[in-house]
Amino acid sequence: MDNQLLVSLTEKYGSPLYVYDAEKISSQYNRLTEAFSTVKSLKLNYAVKANSNISILKLFRKLNSGIDTVSIQEVKLGLEAGFAPENIIFTPNGVSLQEIELAATLGVQINIDNLSILEQFGNHYPNIPVCIRINPHIMAGGNSKISVGHIDSKFGISVHQVPHIKRVVENTGMRINGIHMHTGSDILDIDTFLRATEILFNTANEFEDLDFIDLGSGFKVPYKEGDISTNIEELGEKLSKKFNLFCKDYGKNLTLMFEPGKFLVSDSGSFLASVNVVKQTTSTVFASVDSGFNHLGRPMMYESYHHIHNISNPNGRERYYSVVGYICETDTFGSNRRISEISEGDVLCFNNAGAYCFSMASNYNSRYKPAEVLVYNEKDYLIREQETFDDLLKNQVIIDFD
Ligand SMILES: *Cc1c(COP(=O)(O)O)cnc(C)c1O
Repeated sequence: MDNQLLVSLTEKYGSPLYVYDAEKISSQYNRLTEAFSTVKSLKLNYAVKANSNISILKLFRKLNSGIDTVSIQEVKLGLEAGFAPENIIFTPNGVSLQEIELAATLGVQINIDNLSILEQFGNHYPNIPVCIRINPHIMAGGNSKISVGHIDSKFGISVHQVPHIKRVVENTGMRINGIHMHTGSDILDIDTFLRATEILFNTANEFEDLDFIDLGSGFKVPYKEGDISTNIEELGEKLSKKFNLFCKDYGKNLTLMFEPGKFLVSDSGSFLASVNVVKQTTSTVFASVDSGFNHLGRPMMYESYHHIHNISNPNGRERYYSVVGYICETDTFGSNRRISEISEGDVLCFNNAGAYCFSMASNYNSRYKPAEVLVYNEKDYLIREQETFDDLLKNQVIIDFD
């Protein structure tokens, strides 16, 4: 988005501020759809946890997307945004049977990822079809915090336990209508993903009454120049071919599903924060902004890179800065970054702030969560107000000791 527009939005709505570009979200959605255009039935379910603002969810509904949810609260947000229950898939991990029952009775497609719950659910509700999450034991990406398909992962039922799944299905009379995998957040190479897909197709062949196959997500987006990103067009072409062959073999046109979060919203978001202090120490120039890991946690939590640029002085002479927050802890957004010269009061823009940024924000240091703005058809819409002091007090039950 245009630097001047972004600066003017901080003047209008205050700083810090999250801004999302609806056009980017639409174009990523359409790009993914295009890449799989030879598949007869394709369904994209946007992963709500990446960014759960209801207006963003409504935008996805307008695009004809479904949603992927991981908590009953996300299911409810989806219903609130107007999604029909059948366009919601519930893919939790480690939640109670009761929570899964609640989602199922709301009419949402449930996805079960352990044998214990599968058996209990099948005993109680043999007539509600269930999708199962399989762990194909394929290592996706190198960061163990965001890799969920490997051997020791807590996610999914091991592909080696398919005989056990089949026994549960036989004993309970339940129906499996979908097979799912989500191998992790980073697909570093297409061949690895295709290998996991083959494993899933083999598993699918063990179940005769499927409606869909859900290949989860893991589409990697570039955060900085030179980053590997998933080549969606190449993946689409190769995978569609394999999927169409599989369907022919299976004797039925199944729906192919994906549940991307990052791919759809990451690049749409800009996080804007103003510089409070420029501080020269013996070896470093720090630029401290009016925000911290309470608002954008990924750099401290995952050592993620977010490109930072000075939108108040985009053409200034570049210097090296460490951009830090105002939280009373080490709170670094980026060390030794080349940024055009920063003065106090300048607005810095953090790129790729659409996914796992606001949705992970907290009130640490008793700061308010920032406002969110959506730019749609060249107009800006406030889609969440900044919190106020009342929000900090809201659920506190105050004991008066006097
Ligand atoms: C988080 C999650 C996703 C989305 O992952 P991205 O890397 O954001 O695309 C998809 N499916 C499940 C089950 C998830 O937990």
